[in-house]
Amino acid sequence: MELKAYEKIVSDENRARKYVSEKCRKNGHRFCPRCLCRKLYNLGDGRRRCSKCRYTFSEFAGRWISKSNLSCTEWLRVVKLFELELSTRKIAKQAGLPYKTAYRAITILRLAIMSQAQDARELLAREVEMDESYFGGRRKGKRGRGAAGKVPVFGILERNGRAFVQVVPNVKADTLVGLTVKKVRRGSIVYTDKYKAYDSLMFCGYRHLSVDHSKRFSRGKVCINGMEGFWSWAKERIIKHHGVSPERFPLYLKELEFRYNNREEDIFPLLVSYMSMLVPNVG
Ligand SMILES: [Zn+2]
Repeated sequence: MELKAYEKIVSDENRARKYVSEKCRKNGHRFCPRCLCRKLYNLGDGRRRCSKCRYTFSEFAGRWISKSNLSCTEWLRVVKLFELELSTRKIAKQAGLPYKTAYRAITILRLAIMSQAQDARELLAREVEMDESYFGGRRKGKRGRGAAGKVPVFGILERNGRAFVQVVPNVKADTLVGLTVKKVRRGSIVYTDKYKAYDSLMFCGYRHLSVDHSKRFSRGKVCINGMEGFWSWAKERIIKHHGVSPERFPLYLKELEFRYNNREEDIFPLLVSYMSMLVPNVG
């Protein structure tokens, strides 16, 4: 979103609230967060009551945005600064919020992104590259596959398309092939390196081509250069956060996946719609 349009929205709380409130509707309609019924009674105090299940709720009930006490203007400021990839410290300072409050809001935003990524049903297809990589841990010691203290991540990249990255418990064939079957359409061409865990892909309905790293330039299109480019792009960004804990790492990883997959999009309205969504299993 252009700065001028953004500034207009955050110029007063009512405008900001209206902007967020519209993102909470479905096809322009308000609905009950419990049973999704559209017939609601206005109680006059800002709350509404569902005609079907009688649930009484305030405007943002059950949504990610309600998980923090920020005003809509404050929320939108946090989202704008997050879009610009500022550090939490800088976001807190620029938005005029205590560090802890900003940190909490950004975590909620990352949870909303993660929840949205898990809901994505569309499979990756056509030509995809696959690879595993290790994040974090100490620099010394074993490198590459099986490196101690590092988090293994599996990545699938659609050529000229989307990426899927996930923390995995190990890089065994069952794990990697299992995820592939869930995420990649059968019949796709799959490029990997010579790692033997990928050998069974050809039995799962994929056309599997592997690249020998010792002669990687000899086979033209058969390469995983795109995936390798993704890893360096992702690692450069993770380093900026100075030591993300293994528990929180998946959240940062999904943020990167989101940024990569929406690199051509205006992510501000997208982020606002994510935080306006219902928190799964709540409400
Ligand atoms: Zn209801």
